[in-house]
Amino acid sequence: MRDKHYLMVPGPTPVPPAVAAAISRPVIGHRTEDFARINQQITEKLQKIFQTQNDIFVFTNSGTGALEAAVANTVSPGDTVLSLITGNFGERFAKIARAYGAKVIEVNFEWGRDVDLKVVETKLAEHPEVKVVLATQNETSTGVTNDIAGIGALVAKTPALLLVDGVSGAGAIEIKVDQWGVDLLCTASQKALMLPPGLSMLSVSDKAWKVVENNRSPRFYFSLPAQKKAYKKWNTAYTPAVSLFFGLDATLDLILEEGLDNVYARHALLAKAVRSAVRSLGLKLLAEDRCASNALTGVWVPEGTDVDGLRKIIKQQYGVTFAGGQGILKGKIFRIAHMGFADKMDVIIAVSALEMALAQAGCSVELGAGIRAAQEVFLGRAE
Ligand SMILES: *Cc1c(COP(=O)(O)O)cnc(C)c1O
Repeated sequence: MRDKHYLMVPGPTPVPPAVAAAISRPVIGHRTEDFARINQQITEKLQKIFQTQNDIFVFTNSGTGALEAAVANTVSPGDTVLSLITGNFGERFAKIARAYGAKVIEVNFEWGRDVDLKVVETKLAEHPEVKVVLATQNETSTGVTNDIAGIGALVAKTPALLLVDGVSGAGAIEIKVDQWGVDLLCTASQKALMLPPGLSMLSVSDKAWKVVENNRSPRFYFSLPAQKKAYKKWNTAYTPAVSLFFGLDATLDLILEEGLDNVYARHALLAKAVRSAVRSLGLKLLAEDRCASNALTGVWVPEGTDVDGLRKIIKQQYGVTFAGGQGILKGKIFRIAHMGFADKMDVIIAVSALEMALAQAGCSVELGAGIRAAQEVFLGRAE
């Protein structure tokens, strides 16, 4: 059936009906009291979700724009940047820093593993000149969550700023910006925040503001001082995507009404069910349980199986979209997202489609084994 889709890629993700309805409200002018009221509410709600008192700005662009804004405002040409890379998005953050003239010290961890804190400690001790540390909360290319609290504790002992890419983590996996010492948190609308693409959010600590104000990199659209000035009146420096701001206000209500702890527990449960199902089907997971993401799961395809062929069956015959691998994992894995507007039956649908497609692709598979494993997790019968 042509219109029946199950979008299970790590962004964009499905949009809840209440959010879609909010987005379709009549547009209003952005230099108005009505807009200012909404923008103030959005900021206060985001502060609750990011667990911070810091300034937060919403930009009209995709997540990469938030990463670029973070770098443009804190990295001056010639600065030393320590880049903690666990996959494709870690690489992107490093590339942006290089584009702004930083001397980037790249620390590459194996794809599928998380950041090793001992290595971070050693690198920071060896390089006291580091001005900025780049980290990824949830590495979407592998389905690995990094220990931002641990990294933050190490960076806090130095004058360096910690910039965190939380684009696919925010709204799915806990982040405590203030307590963990995250100086700039970058997030975006189209992942666990359940909105269409088009907005990014950035929080800025007091420690960061001192650097931001004196930074020597060119910036215009992404100028944080310009944004700060506009936000004094709860405005934005340039025309915001007004409709998406309506949607953001609505989606933050959904998250806060469900309760942050419940939102994170739901994601953990879905992730556990997916991992259990995948194992029961005899497939291998990319990440160890210890650092496996609650927002998405990376799965190795059985030896000799064509991933794109498998994903094509899943998409064309069952209407379910999984993501493929990125970078060095292209052709080797597929990724199932279970973030944002996702619940138990989404997992059942995904696993069911996977089982059928594996059978059709000629893999040996016991139909129902994955579904049963997921059901046992949901019924609280699994370890
Ligand atoms: C999606 C994503 C981004 C941003 O990508 P855009 O396409 O620019 O929105 C950045 N980092 C991570 C970890 C992501 O998952």
